[in-house]
Amino acid sequence: MPFQRRFPIPLRPRTLLVLGVIAGLILCMWQTSRLAREQALQALRQDAENELRLSAASLVGHLSRHDYLPELLASREMVKRFLSDPDAQDPMPLNRMLDRFRATANVSDIYLLDHTGETIAASNWHRPDTFIGQNYRFRPYYQEAMAGKNGSFFGLGIQSQDRGYYFSAPVWLDESATEDRPDGVMVLKVLLDTVETGWAEQDAELLVTDHDGVIFMASHPELRLTTMAPLTTAQRQAVTASRRYGDAALPPSGLREHHRRDTRTRLVGFDSGPLAGQRYLSLARPMADFDWHIHIQKPLTPVHQAQWLAAVLAGGLYGLIALGVGIGWQRLRLRRERERFAERERHTLAQARDELERHVESRTRDLVATNRRLSAEIEERQRAEDSLRATRDELVQAAKLAVLGQLAAGINHELNQPLAAIRAYTENARAFIARQRVESADANLAQVLELTERMADISAQLRQFSRKSGDNLTAVAVTPCFAYALRLFQSRIQESQVTIAQHWPTQEAWVRADPVRLEQVLVNLIGNALQAMSEIPEPRLTLAIVAEATCVHLDVIDNGPGIPEAHLTRIFEPFYTTKTMGSGLGLGLSISRRIIEDLGGQLDASGHNDGGAHFRVTLPRIADPDDPARPEESSHA
Ligand code: ADP
Repeated sequence: MPFQRRFPIPLRPRTLLVLGVIAGLILCMWQTSRLAREQALQALRQDAENELRLSAASLVGHLSRHDYLPELLASREMVKRFLSDPDAQDPMPLNRMLDRFRATANVSDIYLLDHTGETIAASNWHRPDTFIGQNYRFRPYYQEAMAGKNGSFFGLGIQSQDRGYYFSAPVWLDESATEDRPDGVMVLKVLLDTVETGWAEQDAELLVTDHDGVIFMASHPELRLTTMAPLTTAQRQAVTASRRYGDAALPPSGLREHHRRDTRTRLVGFDSGPLAGQRYLSLARPMADFDWHIHIQKPLTPVHQAQWLAAVLAGGLYGLIALGVGIGWQRLRLRRERERFAERERHTLAQARDELERHVESRTRDLVATNRRLSAEIEERQRAEDSLRATRDELVQAAKLAVLGQLAAGINHELNQPLAAIRAYTENARAFIARQRVESADANLAQVLELTERMADISAQLRQFSRKSGDNLTAVAVTPCFAYALRLFQSRIQESQVTIAQHWPTQEAWVRADPVRLEQVLVNLIGNALQAMSEIPEPRLTLAIVAEATCVHLDVIDNGPGIPEAHLTRIFEPFYTTKTMGSGLGLGLSISRRIIEDLGGQLDASGHNDGGAHFRVTLPRIADPDDPARPEESSHA
């Protein structure tokens, strides 16, 4: 299917503009050149007019300067005398006189014709082509003079073939009978060449045409004896009859009119000949006295130059203006573009700023809200912490009471046993006293005394445990502390037949602590261990103190069921217990860890190689307060 364009492609505005500018340039150059041409033509015409007037005047002057001379010579006695009988006289005196006049007047020739038209005396008597003996009866100047008038004629010389202007005057032997036929004719010939020589220097072609349009004078030699227009047959016959131009062929000059500006002014060119290829402004002016026309042909070169110059200048000016306008327009466009860009930038910036402000506002709102929430949370935490601290203190106390409760059974057992024994020993003592067996009674009383001491011992321990703990941290020796805690479980240990392994250091290790609280922690750990081993066939409790350079470890290790891996972290949570209702609160370990952490240490639980659980209290070691100068060496049991 052949491709068919359905819509013409629209010309882009830029292309249109460029085309418009080019069209404007052409129009401007064309119009300016037209104007310049018109002005230059007018100026040229003016010049031509002036030159033509001057040339015509000079030609007329040149010719008419001598027109009086034939008449003057015709009246000379010598002329009349000779004419009265030429054959009988010597012509030489007259010839010489005529030659003298010729030389003085600076004319070509002066000669005398008799009434038949034959030359009888001439200034050129001495030249081979002398007129003497020639008959000029056919010449109009002879005929006019013989008619009794001054005559004139121009044409080619019969002998010389020179173009000349002839003036003639009738000669009467008797001047009183001028109505008679004249007796002779005095003729003067002026050459036209000298006039043309002057013309050759002008920047124009000058022509003189006769009434038939034959160019007989021209500044350019080749134009001489050509015709403005081809001669008609009648014209040619008349010219031949007068022998004005001898046998000259009189061809057309090749002049062609291109444009007629007014009746006298034309633009012409030559089809052939030396002036072909140029255009001229042609101006003609009649020379009424001679029935001639004088023509001037001014070359149009200055007109063309002016035209070109004007066109180039106009084009240049137009180009400059167009360039200026283009640059101005571009700058305007750039400025507008910049302004638009700046506006867009401003707009974008403003948008971004608004966006940012909105963002900042919303963030600020969020932050304020968060801040408020945080403040509230902080306050809440503060409150919670305060209440936690209070609760913890209470719990410590409660736990202590709980431990006391746990111990109650043991204590009960400890006290009831000696009480029952005291009663028995006292009854025995009374019986022995009644039987007068003083020694036996004393032995029983001694037993009573020992038992009371033991009870006092237990009481002292209990008092010490229930002592309200304070923040009075002191240097504490860890071994007695451990031993005291163990002692509280003495009866239970014996009952359950637990094997105790103790690894005490050889040198005492000291820590900074509240001894009551530390004992409380150890009691708690030992209690848990004993409880864990209650079902175990061979319970074994290991207590160890490991003193290192900067810290002291207190280990409580049992061979009970141990703590499952998953529970290791949970057992320190408050109220986490695996024990049956009433047998455990789940507070012991959490309180213990808290106490140890308050002392700057830590409490960890892990599994033991034998199975069972391993609890380790680690506290910073301090120097022996009794020997502060010497830092404590680490020692191991
Ligand atoms: P309670 O003794 O009242 O349960 P604790 O905080 O002292 O509270 O102990 C929490 C839990 O840790 C116990 O319920 C027990 O499951 C576990 N536990 C503590 N000591 C041992 C131990 N020596 N062996 C095995 N489990 C233990």
